[in-house]
Amino acid sequence: MNIVIVYKNIKNRWGSLSKDATINLNIHLIKAPVDVIDYVILHELCHFKIKGHSFRFWNYLKQFVPDYEQKKKWLEYNTSNLLSS
Ligand SMILES: [Zn+2]
Repeated sequence: MNIVIVYKNIKNRWGSLSKDATINLNIHLIKAPVDVIDYVILHELCHFKIKGHSFRFWNYLKQFVPDYEQKKKWLEYNTSNLLSS
């Protein structure tokens, strides 16, 4: 399977997954630290296996990003900065 990563001018979310294995990333994410970008990509990759944000999903993601909670918080605190700069 080929996975394509595309930056787009999307609203209301940092990343999304298309059925054709394209990961769409919000263009503003490019200004975030690279470990946060990695988190968003890995988050979307995990959705190939588990849909939705259940306890099982976060547990699965934790295997790849043990400190995902920090990245999530970083994004929450910096959303308006990223979107307005
Ligand atoms: Zn998600």
